[in-house]
Amino acid sequence: MLIGRMGEMETTKKNTKIVENFINGEWVKSKGTKVLDVPNPATGDVIGRVPLSTKEDVEEAVKVAKDAFQTWKKTPVPKRARIMFKFHTLLVEHHEELAKLVVQENGKAYKEAYGEIQRGIECVEFAAGAPTLLMGESLSNIAEDIDSEMFRYPLGVVGGITPFNFPMMVPLWMFPLAIVCGNTFVLKPSERTPLLANRLAELFTEAGAPKGVLNIVHGAHDVVNGLLEHQDIAAISFVGSQPVAKYVYERAAANGKRVQALSGAKNHHILMPDADIDKALHHIMSSTFGSAGQRCMACSVVVLVGDNDQFINELKKNADQLPIGNGMDEDVLLTPVIREEHRQKVLGYIQKGIEEGAELIRDGRREMSLFEKGNFLGPTIFDHVTPEMTIAKEEIFAPVLSVIRAKDLDEALEYIRKSRYGNGATIYTKDAKAVRKFREEADAGMLGVNVGVPATMAFFPFSGWKDSFYGDLHVNGKDGVNFYTKKKMITSRFDF
Ligand code: NAD
Repeated sequence: MLIGRMGEMETTKKNTKIVENFINGEWVKSKGTKVLDVPNPATGDVIGRVPLSTKEDVEEAVKVAKDAFQTWKKTPVPKRARIMFKFHTLLVEHHEELAKLVVQENGKAYKEAYGEIQRGIECVEFAAGAPTLLMGESLSNIAEDIDSEMFRYPLGVVGGITPFNFPMMVPLWMFPLAIVCGNTFVLKPSERTPLLANRLAELFTEAGAPKGVLNIVHGAHDVVNGLLEHQDIAAISFVGSQPVAKYVYERAAANGKRVQALSGAKNHHILMPDADIDKALHHIMSSTFGSAGQRCMACSVVVLVGDNDQFINELKKNADQLPIGNGMDEDVLLTPVIREEHRQKVLGYIQKGIEEGAELIRDGRREMSLFEKGNFLGPTIFDHVTPEMTIAKEEIFAPVLSVIRAKDLDEALEYIRKSRYGNGATIYTKDAKAVRKFREEADAGMLGVNVGVPATMAFFPFSGWKDSFYGDLHVNGKDGVNFYTKKKMITSRFDF
């Protein structure tokens, strides 16, 4: 089935089914009375309806997850890992189907969606290594006839709250690793992209996951608050926008939970004078305009070191030729933004950029009239942006690029330092000395050297800095294992 328990794919609202919650291995109707439409961002067709679940729905899911934890935590680690192997096989088998579903609900291009599914699959590959990942440590003879050992234990019930822009990858950053570590999980997917999560639950069940180990509660604020306040939730993994990330971090921590909250971004790409312009442009175009700029690792600001008219001319030329359209059409790169309200917010930023004196060298608003339906916006580029301008500081999360001029690498690095965000940064250069200086001094957690989207793979931490992250342990890699486990130390005397 293409969209899990959504029923047949419908294009009319009247017949479109309401997404169900997944609790204790069963599909259950939300107790909420309000529902939101889930429109395809490219066509406006309503492809599903999502319930705004209540705290009672959360209560039920957490209770079930708490009960399931009692058995699941004792399930041998290799047995847990084997479910991940099976889940992996199923995800690979359904790769194309899942990618199509991501295109329908998120709007990104099929190629991007296909890549996202792959990133998600890699998280499951990592989780399948649980027997190695969960090994403890030991040291004999810490004193005469005394040895010390460290064992890892799961935390209990973990809550996961995810954004719209990676409906596959972000949930898979969380629940496979949390669950293979012995925790049980309650997921609240974005209400703007709820469909894929249900399909994942189906496949996870088919892979052999016992009832109650993974639960899904659809909705928005009430579900989030229900999770943040629930005394039986041990930890919260959150990914989303900065104000919500900060709120989730503070509220969850105040309620005694372990929390990791991945937040917004404003990523700078430094173009050095020696860089190969064609190659750099290829990466800048795809990083800025791929997924309609709705990536936390998207290029948002190009810091142009030295005057480089050739780059500006080529940038405009490339933007003019960018294929725009429905993500299911072949070779499309620029796709619509998630909702009309978001497009309106972005138009506000464009207006602000003009008012604050930036030079609009390519106006993507002109493409809006080319599409009768869908939240399309053409590639938009501002030149001569200064670091104080709103468009240079705030996350716009759209196909809007700012170019800031810098006299040298030091000045470019200073702009990165001044940014409140620190998710990613990239340098384009062949100069080893510049690369090293960038590596040592760029104030961001994920750096690219001639790489447009330096997002880390599942075995490394996804390590944003500053206001791009609240918490201590990041998602993925060994950080992820540490986040989802607690350590117990045993000190034993043997001359007794
Ligand atoms: P969002 O903050 O609007 O929503 C994220 C989640 O929080 C959703 O599940 C939503 O229902 C919930 N939520 C939203 N407002 C809330 C509120 N007031 N109270 C309680 N819950 C609330 O984010 P989004 O628009 O879905 O996703 C895009 C954002 O996520 C961007 O800022 C992007 O940079 C960020 N993001 C960051 C990373 C990262 O690794 N740092 C990765 C992906 C996305």
